[in-house]
Amino acid sequence: MEKKDFIVIGGGVSGLLSALALGKEGHDVLVLEKEEHLGGVCRSYRVEGYQVDTGPHIITRVAQGPLKHLIDNYFDIIPNFTPHGRYYVVLNNRVKPFPWNMRDWVSFDLLPQTDRMYLMKTLFSISYLFNKGEDLSKKSVADFIGNGLSQSTIRFLNCMSYFMTGAPMEKTPVERFIDSEHYKSQSRGVLDKIYNILMKEGAQDQVYPKGGVQSIITSIISSLPKKRVEIKTGDEVLRINHAEKTIESTGGEYRYNTLIYSGFASDLPKLTENNLPENYKHSLSRLNRINALTLWLGLNEKIFNREGSEIWVDSNPYTWVVPVSNYDPNLSPKGKQLVGFAFSLPHGFNENKERKRSLKSIYEINPKIEEKVDMIHYQMLIPEKAVWTIDTLFADVKTPMDSLYLVGTDTEGRSMGVTRASYSVKKLLSNLREDKVI
Ligand SMILES: Cc1cc2nc3c(=O)[nH]c(=O)nc-3n(C[C@H](O)[C@H](O)[C@H](O)COP(=O)(O)OP(=O)(O)OC[C@H]3O[C@@H](n4cnc5c(N)ncnc54)[C@H](O)[C@@H]3O)c2cc1C
Repeated sequence: MEKKDFIVIGGGVSGLLSALALGKEGHDVLVLEKEEHLGGVCRSYRVEGYQVDTGPHIITRVAQGPLKHLIDNYFDIIPNFTPHGRYYVVLNNRVKPFPWNMRDWVSFDLLPQTDRMYLMKTLFSISYLFNKGEDLSKKSVADFIGNGLSQSTIRFLNCMSYFMTGAPMEKTPVERFIDSEHYKSQSRGVLDKIYNILMKEGAQDQVYPKGGVQSIITSIISSLPKKRVEIKTGDEVLRINHAEKTIESTGGEYRYNTLIYSGFASDLPKLTENNLPENYKHSLSRLNRINALTLWLGLNEKIFNREGSEIWVDSNPYTWVVPVSNYDPNLSPKGKQLVGFAFSLPHGFNENKERKRSLKSIYEINPKIEEKVDMIHYQMLIPEKAVWTIDTLFADVKTPMDSLYLVGTDTEGRSMGVTRASYSVKKLLSNLREDKVI
């Protein structure tokens, strides 16, 4: 039976980043991926002459976040990032840039003035409570909403809640809207904090990876030390016997010293034949996944001309619109445009119904699109393995078992997507160091 220092289950961005870091630090690693391709939900592929991603991706915190740290330390080939631009809000058939600060709120006249005054006051009291160290994790956005707000304002807040957590505002913790990393990094006192609330433009260090999200995976794979890291695709792990430190997979049997699991943490009890402590299994069962429907449209003509992406509050279901070929014209045939529409789905959705409703909603909001459609492609995917809502938990990178660690978007609450995955890998490395495994 083949034996490795480390076996990583899953060849998505979390698993591959873990393998890269460990390989670069001189350890032997085997990655087992059940699909024939690597990347998980961070992947690109071709459809009728267009290159679509697995959902529209804008990568956050690239200037000083966890991905930057991993790139600086372990990448030989660096992805080519291009700035995202601004977020625009489409509400009641009007468009305005997203209001990041008090100055923007004053002119954000998509919402009635009285509602904006109320929301500004609420924003101040929330940041005051947060600064005082109050626990806001169980307070929902809805808890802070007073009576008498207009329907437009309620829809706007609900849409933003879906955007941040995939859940409505009753389930979205208000803490999700506080950039705690930013707050922590601000040590220059209260005036600085007030300046940020009043004046600072948010989401400055967000980017689209040229060549599509696949280019992040390609950079990782190209940077892997070939002598240290082996990857097997089409090899699904079926059983983990952690007492014996062996794995049974569709490709064979393996032995490990340390196991890193990057699949759904909630699937772990099944794979380990319920060989985990009862309270741990119970906490894993509380992880909540969400589905997102993405509709990719290839357009015969460039219709979306703004620099950035759009949040359509008017759409039903709400959608986030990213014209990815604006960032990289090679993603669509010459003169055409590729646009991703990511929809937040209601609880207990019916996929066929949502597909029809989504397309209809796009055409209703901008009838010009229907005349220009050249390609339609649907994707139903799970963006985060655990959502940050008031009644769910995250697993941790560290497990109650020695030599068994988790990585991925259900092991870490900070940020979203690829950035969250990168936080989990940073945490893995520090846990492995603390435990003297590396
Ligand atoms: C619609 C959509 C929009 C998104 N937008 C953004 C965005 O704007 N910005 C952003 O940063 N992120 C975004 N993301 C999220 C981001 O892509 C993911 O959070 C990230 O890629 C998750 O990586 P992961 O490695 O943790 O998980 P995954 O990609 O799920 O990887 C897990 C891997 O493990 C494999 N696996 C599981 N079980 C086994 C087993 N038993 N044996 C072998 N292999 C196994 C799976 O096949 C998979 O390849 C979006 C995702 C979607 C779907």
